[in-house]
Amino acid sequence: MRTAPEYIDSLRQRNLRLFVDGELVRDPVSHPKVRPAINAVAATYELAHDPAYRELATAHSALSNIRVNRFCHLFEEPQDLIRKVELQRVLGRLTGTCFQRCVGMDGLNALFIATWEAGKDAHTRFVQWLRGVQHRDEVICGAMTDAKGDRRKRPAAQPDQFLRIVERRDGGVVLRGAKLHQTGAANSHQILVMPGMAMRPGEEEFVVAAAMPVDAPGITMVLGRQPSDGRKGGVDAGNAKYGGQEVVVLFDDVFVPGSRVFLDGELAPAATLVEAFAGYHRASYGGCKPGNLDVLIGASRLLARLHGVEQASHIRDKLVEMAHLTETVHGVGLAASARSHQHKAGPWQVDQILANVCKHNVTRIPYEIVRLAEDLAGGLVATMPSLADLQHPEFGEQLRRAVGGEERAKLLRLVEWMSYGAGAVPLRIECMHGAGSPQAQRIVLERNIDWETRVQHARRLAGLDNS
Ligand SMILES: Cc1cc2nc3c(=O)[nH]c(=O)nc-3n(C[C@H](O)[C@H](O)[C@H](O)COP(=O)(O)OP(=O)(O)OC[C@H]3O[C@@H](n4cnc5c(N)ncnc54)[C@H](O)[C@@H]3O)c2cc1C
Repeated sequence: MRTAPEYIDSLRQRNLRLFVDGELVRDPVSHPKVRPAINAVAATYELAHDPAYRELATAHSALSNIRVNRFCHLFEEPQDLIRKVELQRVLGRLTGTCFQRCVGMDGLNALFIATWEAGKDAHTRFVQWLRGVQHRDEVICGAMTDAKGDRRKRPAAQPDQFLRIVERRDGGVVLRGAKLHQTGAANSHQILVMPGMAMRPGEEEFVVAAAMPVDAPGITMVLGRQPSDGRKGGVDAGNAKYGGQEVVVLFDDVFVPGSRVFLDGELAPAATLVEAFAGYHRASYGGCKPGNLDVLIGASRLLARLHGVEQASHIRDKLVEMAHLTETVHGVGLAASARSHQHKAGPWQVDQILANVCKHNVTRIPYEIVRLAEDLAGGLVATMPSLADLQHPEFGEQLRRAVGGEERAKLLRLVEWMSYGAGAVPLRIECMHGAGSPQAQRIVLERNIDWETRVQHARRLAGLDNS
């Protein structure tokens, strides 16, 4: 398994075409808007070599018969699903942000199942590729979300809005289109494209699951902006070391050899893929987000201590509320993972209802916790001058007396970063839309809940079935 320095070094070997603020970036590893996100991924490699976390962060792969980083692992036994959520919480706390390898991990598992359903050839190709990923301990960018354009229209009515196969040649396929919101794409080794929704007969050209290096000819990446991204890595960053990352990935006639094409027009396996991925990924949110929220709770408690209000009853009550909401999300993520079942292909799958309940709570609970954190922090969270001003030779001392010392200033910056700075991208908007917007979970819940059994219970107790 790679170490963190080996991972960072491997990123330097790529010939990435990445644009940030309109400029081609020659060295992404040193770029101030990219490096914090690289550090967050690197934490997943660090933990794998930390004796305290080795069991959690790694696993024996029966597929490759080697020890692998958990982010490259299949859910081979029920405990793997639970350990995933526990690991995500640890990493969420460690980085305070998104560590970017979960979409790839959940995608690998979903595609293992989907290719098994697609047939022996597809599955053999995928397994061979996955063994290579495990041996090289790679970061996989899981690329599902298409641009989609007018949401009322099907792909055939607006083909440019969906990644698709435009040509077949030389034993491979040519891909054109874009994938949006790609977490950690510029910090990855390979892109695994997958359809973002179930397709219908006649839409086969949009059903493609395939892998390619991030620097394959024809791929252009454009980094998404984040709030306060001009401060990244600086004294006022809030979280100076770690950050998240989303990228628009443009595919301009990218050739993928057949050996790396895992689904090509198979409608039913593609539908399986989308459903399996959604389940895995919606349970994942029960790990990472509680970890991030732990950091926000810690900052809030420390600020209350600095303000002399830690023992006030309403402050204690609000901190308890923040903690209980966080544990609620984590509890459902664990429950979805514990109530698992095995797919015939081998991997264990989460409980769909609980996984969707988990993610649905995540579309609300972090917002309430952020509200409480802003309440406890006081107005200075939004009006604090720069840390450089605190050191100013003329007025610094007077300013420090007025707004508090560096400890308070740095904590306020962290709360600001997580509430509505760059850290709010993973802590709020990703909570809302990642793995599907709220309505996507309600649709799955409505479909999967056994309404008639509930009706029968009501009928029995109401005395309607006494005849
Ligand atoms: C921070 C972040 C990280 C992400 N990371 C990844 C990643 O790594 N890989 C990846 O593939 N994707 C990723 N995503 C994408 C994510 O899965 C999508 O944002 C999500 O599926 C919602 O799609 P959308 O953004 O196009 O919003 P939309 O689908 O446009 O949703 C916006 C609103 O429109 C509604 N709506 C949508 N369609 C319809 C319709 N037909 N009829 C009625 N209402 C409709 C929705 O319910 C919602 O209320 C990420 C997103 C974010 C914000």
